[in-house]
Amino acid sequence: MVRIPVIKIVNLCKYYELGKNVVKAVDHINLEIYSGEFIVILGPSGCGKSTLLNMIAGLDEPTAGEIYIRGEKLSGKTGKELAIYRRSKIGMIFQQFNLLPSLNIVENVALPLVFSGVPYRRRMKRAETLIEAVGLGNHKNHYPSELSGGQQQRVAIARALATNPWILVADEPTGNLDTKSAEEVIKILVNLCRKSRRTIIMVTHNPDYRKYADRVIYIRDGKILKIKVNRRIKVIDKEGGEDWIESLKAVALEKKNSKSKEEQKAKDNSKEEEVVGV
Ligand code: ADP
Ligand code: MG
Repeated sequence: MVRIPVIKIVNLCKYYELGKNVVKAVDHINLEIYSGEFIVILGPSGCGKSTLLNMIAGLDEPTAGEIYIRGEKLSGKTGKELAIYRRSKIGMIFQQFNLLPSLNIVENVALPLVFSGVPYRRRMKRAETLIEAVGLGNHKNHYPSELSGGQQQRVAIARALATNPWILVADEPTGNLDTKSAEEVIKILVNLCRKSRRTIIMVTHNPDYRKYADRVIYIRDGKILKIKVNRRIKVIDKEGGEDWIESLKAVALEKKNSKSKEEQKAKDNSKEEEVVGV
C-alpha cells in the first residue's frame, strides 16, 4: 500500500530580511506527516518552530518550497480557499489560549462555527458538548478570566475541535501552565490522537513530552537535526470519520474513575479544585 501523507513538506524555507542580514527561520525542511500521528517538534527558542507551524496552518507564506495537504498544494490556493482550509481542516492551540474575554466559554468554542455558517442552536449545542467533553460542564456560563490557565487551555482545545478538523497544531500549549495542568492538557491531546486517530503536531521546548510522540522532530536553526521514531502508527489514508468528542469523553471518564476518595478529600480545601474543574 502506498502511504499518502496528510502533510508533505518539500524544501520549505522562510527567510526574513533584516537590513543586510537574512534570518533563515525555516531552512529547507522536508517532512512527511501521516494521518493519526502525534508529532512533537522540539527545539530551542528561535529555531523556527512557530514559523513552521504557521506555514502548515496556512497563516504564513513560505519564501520557497511547498506544503501539500492530502496532495493539494497550499501555495496554489486563493485567499478564500486558504481561509476555508484554516477554518475546516486545521485546529490551532496557542500558548496564550487566545480566548475572547467578552464571550463566555461556550460562545468562545462556538465562534469558529459562526464563520462556517452553522446555525445558532446547532453551534451552541456542539460547543456545549465539547465544553462538557473537556470536563468544564459546570463552568458553561463562565468567562475566560474566571478560569485557571489549565481550564482556559481546555476551552481552547474544545474550540480548536469545533469544526472537527483533520489536523490539530499546538504551539507550546503548556508554556503558560503549571506542571499538573500541563499534564492534563497533554493527556487530552494524546488521547485525542490515540482514540480518534487524528493528526496532532505539538511544538514544545520541553523534552519531557518526547515520550508521548510517535515521532520527535528535532529542529535547530531552521533545519531538521534528526527525527526519532518512537512508534510506527497504523496508516490511515482517509480523514474524517469518528468524531473527537468520543475520545474527549473517554479522557473525562478515565479521570473520573481514577479519582480516589483520598484525592477528592485532599482537593476539598485546596485551590487546586479550580485547576481541575469538575
Ligand atoms: P520558535 O518558535 O522556535 O521560538 P520562531 O519561528 O518564532 O522560533 O522564529 C524563528 C526565527 O525567525 C527567530 O530568529 C525569529 O527572530 C525570526 N522571526 C520570526 N518571525 C519573524 C518576523 N516576522 N520578522 C523577522 N524575523 C522573524
Ligand atoms: Mg515559537
